[in-house]
Amino acid sequence: MSRNATPKFEHLYVHVPFCHSICGYCDFCRVRYNEKQAEWYLQVLKKERDHFSYGDTLTTLYLGGGTPTSLSDDQFARLLAICQQSKPVAEYTIEANPESLSSEKIAIMKAHGVNRVSLGIQASQDGLLKRIGRHHSFAQVCTCISSLRKAKIENISGDLMYGLPSQSLDDFKVSLKALCDLRLPHLSLYSLTLEEGSLFYKQGQKQVSAQAEEEFYFTALELLKKQGYIQYEISSFCLPGFQSRHNLHYWDYGDFLGLGPGAASKAGAHRWQNARRFKDYEAGLRDEDIKLSLSEQHFEFVMMNLRKKAGFAMKTFQSRYGLPFDSAFLMTNRLLRQGKLKKYQQAGTEFLCVSDDWYPLLNDVLTEFL
Ligand code: SF4
Repeated sequence: MSRNATPKFEHLYVHVPFCHSICGYCDFCRVRYNEKQAEWYLQVLKKERDHFSYGDTLTTLYLGGGTPTSLSDDQFARLLAICQQSKPVAEYTIEANPESLSSEKIAIMKAHGVNRVSLGIQASQDGLLKRIGRHHSFAQVCTCISSLRKAKIENISGDLMYGLPSQSLDDFKVSLKALCDLRLPHLSLYSLTLEEGSLFYKQGQKQVSAQAEEEFYFTALELLKKQGYIQYEISSFCLPGFQSRHNLHYWDYGDFLGLGPGAASKAGAHRWQNARRFKDYEAGLRDEDIKLSLSEQHFEFVMMNLRKKAGFAMKTFQSRYGLPFDSAFLMTNRLLRQGKLKKYQQAGTEFLCVSDDWYPLLNDVLTEFL
């Protein structure tokens, strides 16, 4: 490994690039699980983790992928041992798919202090799940949730998708309602995007129109609000007190370390991404390694912070970059006058966020900062 030493991090993401099968819409860094390659991965990850000795500084830890639970039980236990620090981590999340979340894996999670699970659910109709290349049923989702709850892992997030091939608005409503009935404390909603590397793209599947996408999204906003969910980020909803601390840190534009192939990291102006190709990753190569200019950092700060419904404290920008936000972004006053942005006070601090009317159209507001 030829990586330079970096500061200690409080937030760690570990990418586990294995899945038992590949979903039609997926363009993440992932391969079909095979035991030998997973052994190789654990060895390289261990070396990488040792290189970045973050001591006991972690407050959030997120194991995503891929599907971390696609590893064998023994490999899964070793993965968690590699990521372990001696102090408990305040929020420790693992992504899981219902077909590979066994009671053995839940016991391993418990033993290592995992206290949050993000489940790939996507829809509640078995036929639709099959059509998008998922290998689980909704009954399996319900079994996983009750096993996690029995093990006292109550902080469960569900991923749900819309705009899927042949998915009607009613299908989506039924899926949303099913998850609300399960009282999952956190939900993340994603629209289907046809990425070039995905099977759907190669098959020539069509993306739903922007109008249909809006209809799905607005339906979700209305339904989830009625069910007591709070929207705290453009795609994230939760019951009170269940915001994802790890993800909020990304949206605060904070620093974080990413380990594993394809994982991204950020330390101040320095941003890098490990190589996605396994051999390049093993050699310590990076697909991206850049030093951001000040104006690039300002821009990224806005892009991330305005994703949060609450926006950000204006003094955070000033203390980080040494100038008031409205001098860095002269269009701020115009956007305030147009009602696209709003300022508000909380505990004596001034915040800036996208106004309620414009928040569902966040991308239109963000392009104003380009
Ligand atoms: S969407 Fe998730 S589960 Fe499906 S192939 Fe991609 S990483 Fe694996």
